[in-house]
Amino acid sequence: MCRHLAHVGPHPVTLASRVTEPAHSLLVQAYAPADMRGGGTVNADGFGVGWLAPSTHPPRAHSYRAPVPMWTDASFLDLATAVESPAFVGAVRSATVGMPVSVGACAPFRDGTRIFSHNGVVRGWPGSLADLAAELDTETLMTLDAPTDSAVLWALVRRHLDAGKDPVDAVLDVVARTLAAAPGSRLNLLLLTTDDAGEPTLVATAVDHALAYRAGPDGVTVASEPLDDDAAWTAVPDLSAVVVRGARATPEVGSLT
Ligand code: GLN
Repeated sequence: MCRHLAHVGPHPVTLASRVTEPAHSLLVQAYAPADMRGGGTVNADGFGVGWLAPSTHPPRAHSYRAPVPMWTDASFLDLATAVESPAFVGAVRSATVGMPVSVGACAPFRDGTRIFSHNGVVRGWPGSLADLAAELDTETLMTLDAPTDSAVLWALVRRHLDAGKDPVDAVLDVVARTLAAAPGSRLNLLLLTTDDAGEPTLVATAVDHALAYRAGPDGVTVASEPLDDDAAWTAVPDLSAVVVRGARATPEVGSLT
């Protein structure tokens, strides 16, 4: 299963500081993940980063994605040392059997001021998600990033956000209804959004997959696997969510049940 991370903090830091530089960075988790829990061995089917640009108001989401192993993209490894942001998401992908390898299938997905990633699988896809997908308008279905479970989950979350739903409620609703429609699904979702004042909200769920977080003066980082051996990393219990509301906020962990 894929690996992902998100960081939210009071100051811009380089993407590299979380994605490529730590001892067990996302880059390392692409070829030597430590806690895949029964799905896949490497995350070599593509990668992506999405970040909020602090120079725009509200901060706009940008991304770089490629359907190649992260370690083969020298331009990205360089770019990650130059791009700085106070809020970003990174992901490396291990495609679920039957799903395409394409740039559009690589998380994170983005839209305006929002960035989204899914680590896991929707059981019985596509049939199991058909009723939920029927809530999406035709144009959305015609312009999905890719014919994958993750892209449909992103469209469902986005629909809630467009309707004005709180980001935490949007993610939890999609998790609950997907689990009801497709029991046994693995649904580690990450959503990073910002309000008009530039204050970020981060929501990360742990549903049948590894997740940990670390909070410090530099901000909060949430990752599938701890990025180093710092004792400050805390494992997120299964069927829980981590929520960070604001650039200087401490993380709240709550049960989904
Ligand atoms: N099912 C998703 C995809 O194929 C996510 C894959 C994963 O987490 N391994 O893109």
